[in-house]
Amino acid sequence: MERAKLRQGEQEDAAAAAAVAGGEQHSLNGHCEGGRSKVARCRESPGEASGSGARTPGQSGHSSSVMESWKEERTRSVEDNEMSLPSIAAAYTTILRGLGEDPQRQGLLKTPWRAATAMQFFTKGYQEKIIDVLNDAIFDEDHDEMVIVKDIDMFSMCEHHLVPIFGRVHIGYLPNKRVLGLSKLARIVEIYSRRLQVQERLTKQIAVAITEALQPAGVGVVIEATHMCMVMRGVQKMNSKTVTSTMLGVFREDPKTRDEFLTLIRS
Ligand SMILES: [Zn+2]
Repeated sequence: MERAKLRQGEQEDAAAAAAVAGGEQHSLNGHCEGGRSKVARCRESPGEASGSGARTPGQSGHSSSVMESWKEERTRSVEDNEMSLPSIAAAYTTILRGLGEDPQRQGLLKTPWRAATAMQFFTKGYQEKIIDVLNDAIFDEDHDEMVIVKDIDMFSMCEHHLVPIFGRVHIGYLPNKRVLGLSKLARIVEIYSRRLQVQERLTKQIAVAITEALQPAGVGVVIEATHMCMVMRGVQKMNSKTVTSTMLGVFREDPKTRDEFLTLIRS
């Protein structure tokens, strides 16, 4: 895993996240914003710093927990997509004009519709529920060795700038009599990443979903990602990567288990 050196701002973010990581244990709020005591479980991996330059200082988090949101997920239907497409396209026309472009010139004639359709695709995770993915995919199995799926490709959208976040997700869990079909881990990543996100919340949502579904002895999720809002604007550091991790259960409590996971995802 190649990892770029973190610049100063990220180090500050990392320090803030580290300070927060020691906080209250039961909040699964999903936001890891510095100084918010509710946030927990966004722990630094040993030797790694995490932080997201995509954060807007002072932005407030949501109060609902990730677990609640998982059970009462609001979904967007195909009909909703059809209904909202014209208004999203119209909004893109406004954006084009606002940028000083002529929406009537040939190359842009269909752009608002294309962009609207693309945006609906980029956020198609709102059309699916985790619970539907898990149906028929949980098996009773007397397997008590660590299960790891690494290098799952991830494409998401930064909720602060509406530009892509992309990278790789590594998931490990220690089963407790139940296992999940392996392809379903990637499906969970897909559903949560195809929404407007911050990397910290995405990391935690994946870990919590697996915990809820399997009640395993522990779960570890590590995401390495590039934020286009950092690469193309702001600091314009081409190679900066943001690394976040969530460790639950024995992955959090037992350094040996955590180290085994971190070693295996790097091998
Ligand atoms: Zn951003």
